[in-house]
Amino acid sequence: MKLVVDQGKCCGHARCNDRAPELFELDDLGYVAVNEIEVPEGMEEAALAGARACPERAITIV
Ligand code: SF4
Repeated sequence: MKLVVDQGKCCGHARCNDRAPELFELDDLGYVAVNEIEVPEGMEEAALAGARACPERAITIV
């Protein structure tokens, strides 16, 4: 599983990081710092929770 973050949509709510800090690394301003995230095995539920928590729908599961 892989996540793609549309950094243009990210508004820095950090809700994704709240659900799964290991996956959603933030920059100093609270925006997601990476645009592609490889989800390690066993982290799928956390990845889904983080993606669903994003109010901007900036995170796509591929
Ligand atoms: S929840 Fe969405 S808008 Fe907020 S930091 Fe994460 S990706 Fe960005």
